[in-house]
Amino acid sequence: MVLTYHMQDVIMAGDGYLLVIVLDVHPQLAEQESIVHNYLSACISFANIHLASNVRNTLAVIAANHLETRFLYPQDTGEKVERQKDGRLELLCQVDESIEKELRRMMMHGGKAEQTESLLSGAIGRGLLYIKRQETEDVLGKKVHARILVIKISSDTGSQYLNYINTYLTAQKISTPIDVCVVGNDCGLLQQGADISGGYYHCIQEVSELLQCLILMYQADVGTRKKLNVPPMDSVDYRAACFCHRTLVEMGNVCSNCLSVYCKAVPLCSTCNVIFQTERPLMKIVKKKK
Ligand SMILES: [Zn+2]
Ligand SMILES: [Zn+2]
Repeated sequence: MVLTYHMQDVIMAGDGYLLVIVLDVHPQLAEQESIVHNYLSACISFANIHLASNVRNTLAVIAANHLETRFLYPQDTGEKVERQKDGRLELLCQVDESIEKELRRMMMHGGKAEQTESLLSGAIGRGLLYIKRQETEDVLGKKVHARILVIKISSDTGSQYLNYINTYLTAQKISTPIDVCVVGNDCGLLQQGADISGGYYHCIQEVSELLQCLILMYQADVGTRKKLNVPPMDSVDYRAACFCHRTLVEMGNVCSNCLSVYCKAVPLCSTCNVIFQTERPLMKIVKKKK
């Protein structure tokens, strides 16, 4: 009952929203078949709900694995929209088919990768560009109401730290919230992104909870969300990743020239090549005689 009321609220939000879903499809997922199935069907169902809840709502889905990022929807194939065949809205059918087709293509590309974690930061960047392009291509030059939803399932390291921070600051600048839903372990880096850009972060333990969580917490837009009684955000883990080992550090050395973070004292900044004068003798404090 409560949900219906709030969904109505969303529907009344006239202009419609562009939702960009950044979907983590790391091969790690394939370890258990039931997980893949539940995970993907929850994500696709959520995309369907978003489109069906307001006729003006639009959607983009970008997938990321450890090798590449790829637009699953929309596709510029120029194919004709098929006529309704199973009583469903044509658009929803088209979305499902496009996502399935592109995911298959993505899975077929094998190969070795330097990275082992999903290239989510790259996918978020593409999402931001897509939003910006929609805005510039709008004939009336209207502001596009958009938000990004990152759904993440694989584990990660801090190796994309800088890329993440850059996308977060960009999102903040074009006032696009980045929502994050993590399955499994908490992800400090993505939590920072949600906090910086004004999005919502939540971590669930089981894939089976995913669809319910998406509908209850992520379906409403940012304005409506204030009226909902969603669980409060945990305190944000604002540790930075050091530039030498890409691990999150609590305390470190910071380059005074470019603000790079190092977990240990280093003689040279690897980012801006500044030499640190570490062995400078400490100045004696001479007390003035009165
Ligand atoms: Zn380090
Ligand atoms: Zn430096």
